Amino acid sequence: MAEYGLDGDEDPFEAQRANAEDPMWRLFGEYGRPNWPQFAVGILASVTARLLDLVPPIMLGVAIDAIFRDETAFSLWLVPDAWLPADTAGQFWLTIGVIAGAFALGAGFHWLRNWGFNAFAQHIQHAVRTDTYDTMQRLNMDFFADKQTGELMSVLSNDVNRLERFLNDGLNSVFRLSVMVLAIAGVLVYYNWQLALIALLPVPLIAAFTSLFVRAIQPKYARVRSAVGTVNSRLENNLGGIQVIKAANTEPYESDRVDDVSTEYFDANWDAIDTRIKFFPGLRLLAGIGFVVTFVIGGLWVATGTAPGPLSGELTVGTFVVFILFTQRFIWPMAQFGQIINMYQRAYASAERIFGLVDEPDRLPVADDAEPLRVEAGRVEYDDVTFGYDDEPIVRDVAFTVAGGDTLALVGPTGAGKSTVLKLLLRLYDVDDGAVRIDGQDVRDVTLASLRQRVGYVGQDTFLFYGTVRENIAYGSFDADDDAVVAAAEAAEADEFVRNLPDGYDTMVGERGVKLSGGQRQRIAIARAVLTDPDILVLDEATSDVDTETEMLIQRSLDRLTADRTTFAIAHRLSTIKDADTILVFEDGEVVERGTHEDLLAADGLYAHLWGVQAGEIDQLPEEFVERAAERQARTEAELDDD
Ligand code: ADP
Repeated sequence: MAEYGLDGDEDPFEAQRANAEDPMWRLFGEYGRPNWPQFAVGILASVTARLLDLVPPIMLGVAIDAIFRDETAFSLWLVPDAWLPADTAGQFWLTIGVIAGAFALGAGFHWLRNWGFNAFAQHIQHAVRTDTYDTMQRLNMDFFADKQTGELMSVLSNDVNRLERFLNDGLNSVFRLSVMVLAIAGVLVYYNWQLALIALLPVPLIAAFTSLFVRAIQPKYARVRSAVGTVNSRLENNLGGIQVIKAANTEPYESDRVDDVSTEYFDANWDAIDTRIKFFPGLRLLAGIGFVVTFVIGGLWVATGTAPGPLSGELTVGTFVVFILFTQRFIWPMAQFGQIINMYQRAYASAERIFGLVDEPDRLPVADDAEPLRVEAGRVEYDDVTFGYDDEPIVRDVAFTVAGGDTLALVGPTGAGKSTVLKLLLRLYDVDDGAVRIDGQDVRDVTLASLRQRVGYVGQDTFLFYGTVRENIAYGSFDADDDAVVAAAEAAEADEFVRNLPDGYDTMVGERGVKLSGGQRQRIAIARAVLTDPDILVLDEATSDVDTETEMLIQRSLDRLTADRTTFAIAHRLSTIKDADTILVFEDGEVVERGTHEDLLAADGLYAHLWGVQAGEIDQLPEEFVERAAERQARTEAELDDD
C-alpha cells in the first residue's frame, strides 16, 4: 500500500501541476475564445428559457388575486391595462394562453441552450485533447522515462473528459441558476421588499458554507486525480505484460498489486465523497430554514391581515403564493450552486494537470532560425562527449570521427554506454559536455525533423503499429508506392516471408506485431529504414534476437543497406561487425580500445578476449579477464538491487 500510496506529494504530475498558472483562465482564454458564438447562443437561450419559466407562477399569482379579491384588478407587468380583457372568461383564457405559450417557447430555447453549450464544450474538449497530445509527443525521452503510459493516458482521456462535463453541465447551470436567482430575487423585491429580505436571508450563509466546502474538497480531488493515474498505469502495465504474468504464475501477486492501487483510489474517492455528501444536505438545511421562516412570517401576515413585528404594509394571498412558489424554486438553485462549485473544483484539478503537461518545458531547445541538416559526405564527429541521465556521467570524454560511408562498430559489455552514445547522435538527449557533429553541423543547431529524417534507426525491440505489414514498412514514408514497399522488403530479405503470410502485404500484424517472430519484425524494421533512405544509419543490436540462419539473411540485407552510408552498429555477436572499418570497444562509458578487427585481435585486450569467448575458447582465457567479467556482473546486479 505504502509503495503506491499517494500522500499528496506523490502525484507524478506534481511538478507539472505547478507549471500551470490559472488553468481555468487559460481554458477560457485560449480555447474558449474561438468558440464564443456557441457560448453566446448558449447563454442567451439559457437566460430566455429561464425567464419564460418564471411566467406561469407569476400568471398564477395575478389570476388568483383577480379572481378571489374583487378590489384587485387583473393587471400584468409591462402590459397596458387597456389591452387586457375585462371579463373573467377572457382573463382566464388569456392566462392559460400565456402559460401555454411560455411552455412552448421555453422548450425551443431549452433546445437552443443545450445545442450552444454542448457545441462549445465539445469543440474545446477536442482542441485540448489534440493539443495536449501534440505537446506530449514533442517532449523528449527523459519525460517518458519518468512517467508511466497509464498516467499519461489518464490525463489525455479522463482529465480531458472531465473538462467537458464542467464546460457543458457546469457552465450551463451557472447561467441558468444565476438568472433564476437574480430574476426571482427581482420579482420578490418588486412584490414585497420586506418579505423578500427575509426570504433572501440564507444567501450569505450559503456562500460562507460553500467557501468552507471548497477549501476542504480541493486537495481531496487532487488526490483522486492522481490515484486514477496510478490505477491506469498499473492496469496498462499488467495488460501489456500479461504473458509474463501468466508464465511467471504471478496472478495472485498482480491481483494484490491491483487491489492495492484500487484501494488507494477507493480511499481517495471515499474521502472526497464523505465531504461532498455532507455538503449538500447542509445546503438544503440552510435553504430550508429560509423557506420555513418566510412561510411562517408570510402566513401570519396574510392570516392576521397585519404586518408582524417591525414590518409594515399589506400582503395579499396572491403575493404570498408567488412567494411560496418562488422561494421553493429559489432554494434548489442555491443548493445547486454547490454542485457547480464541486464540478468546478474537479475541472480545476484536471485543467491543472492538462496545462501542466502542455507547459512542460522542452528540454531539447531548438533555435527558431535553425537550419535543416545538410548531409554531404556523412562524416560524423564526437568531440569529447560527456553525458549522464542524472548527475552521474554514463559516457565520458568519448571522441572519434567516422568518415562518410564508413561503418563504425561499438562493442563492449552490457551497460557500458554504447546505446547511450548513439542516442546522442539522434538527439534523444543532449550532451552535457562536448559536441556531436554531422558534416560539421552540431546536432543541436539543426532542426530535429531534418536530423531524424537523415539519421535512420533500427533498434533491438522493434515496435510495429497495429495495421498491415505494408503500412508498417511505409511508416514514415507515407507517399511511397507499392513497388517501392516491395523493393524495400526485398532489400531487407523480408519479401519472401511476407508473401507467405495469409494476406501477404495486407496481413494485419496484431497489436505490437505479436503475430510475427522477432526476426520477421526485425526485417520489417530494416525494410522501413531502406524505404526512408537515410544518409546515416544506426543499428542498435539489430540482429540480437534472431537465430543464426535469420541472422545470416538479415546480415545480407544489412550489408546492402549499409554499403554506401555512414553506419553505426552495436552488436554483441562480434562476427556480425568484424568487417567494420573501425571498432570501438567501450567499458564503463569510455572507449578503451579502437581499431580494425585484426588490430584489436593483435592487441590482445578486451576485444580479443570477448572474441575468444564467442569463438568458444573459454578455457584459454586469462584468469584476469574472467575475474573482471565477474566483477562487472556483480556490479550490475548490485545496481539492479538498488533499484
Ligand atoms: P549498453 O548499450 O552498452 O548496454 P546503455 O547505454 O544502454 O549501455 O546503458 C548505459 C548505462 O546507462 C546503464 O547503466 C543503464 O542502466 C543506464 N541507462 C540507460 N538508459 C537510461 C535512462 N533512460 N535513464 C537512466 N539511466 C539509463
